[in-house]
Amino acid sequence: MKAVRLHSIGDIRCDEIDIPVPHGEELLIKVGACGVCGSDLPRTFEHGTSSGIYPLTIGHEFAGEVVAVGEKADSSLIGAKGAVFPLIPCRKCDPCTVGKYVMCEKYDYLGSRSDGGFAEYCLLPSEWHLIRAKSAPMELLAMTEPACVAQHAVRRAKITAGQFAVIFGAGPIGIMAARWARIFGAEPLLVDIVAEKVEFAKSKGLNAINSREEDLIAAIKSLNNGRLADAAIEGTGSGKALISCVECVRGGGCIALLGNPMGNSELPLKIHSTILRKELEINGVWNSSRAPYPVDEWAYTVKMMDEGRFEAADLITDRPTHEELPQVLKELKDGTRRSVKVMCI
Ligand SMILES: [Zn+2]
Ligand SMILES: [Zn+2]
Repeated sequence: MKAVRLHSIGDIRCDEIDIPVPHGEELLIKVGACGVCGSDLPRTFEHGTSSGIYPLTIGHEFAGEVVAVGEKADSSLIGAKGAVFPLIPCRKCDPCTVGKYVMCEKYDYLGSRSDGGFAEYCLLPSEWHLIRAKSAPMELLAMTEPACVAQHAVRRAKITAGQFAVIFGAGPIGIMAARWARIFGAEPLLVDIVAEKVEFAKSKGLNAINSREEDLIAAIKSLNNGRLADAAIEGTGSGKALISCVECVRGGGCIALLGNPMGNSELPLKIHSTILRKELEINGVWNSSRAPYPVDEWAYTVKMMDEGRFEAADLITDRPTHEELPQVLKELKDGTRRSVKVMCI
């Protein structure tokens, strides 16, 4: 089979290797599609795999169909398709015992620590890692992981029906967060400083502004009956956007911090003080929830996709093959390729 593997930092190749054989509870899936995550670029070109294992097949946003199972797995699963939950929790540490698997203290991960989805086939540790779907297409199911992160951010920002929310960062996760906000009954405004991203969001029927060209507070007030926003999601990792969040949310409002911090994020005293005066609630966002309570965001997302109520495949702008993917990753890193979502098929 073809597998796009990282051999060392910066050395990414499409290799021909043997199809793995499932044992025990493992499932072998034929990968239907696997998306490129923003984190795949620093993983490939800056810091390498988290496990130090090379060569390693990267890619963690994927979906597929079961084609073989281990001796202890249910053979009726052959033919089942669905989205893959790539995190492998230890199930023993304190966070695991209360279902906070994404905070596991000793986890494994398909696509960053173990072989992942940029291959024709992939082994899943057990049935639990496959969120079964009925009719949703593979490309859409491969968007489940970022869709769940976007949904989790909306929940962490406590966005609820009737509210107005500002989302910083109009990339795929920002657009999906805006879609969840609408599903939850709120009206979102996307903010970015890249003109093409703002235009793309507008072409999807969303409110979007370029904060380098337009006054953010004035835009919020004109869309929200003269009021500030009820909630904000910081999805860029920039300190400037965090400052804007504090300024654009009303007293008692909520801010969810989703973007990985980058650059200089020192907080000016005035902003620090505004957080106090407004009694703002600030919540971190880490991944998404795969536990049954309060909501299994993975099961809900796949259900919404199956019912045609959550769309995301329209964000896919590039569809490289396995052979083309190493070159596409280089172009994304160099900035010579501008994409919204890249899906390896
Ligand atoms: Zn990802
Ligand atoms: Zn654990």
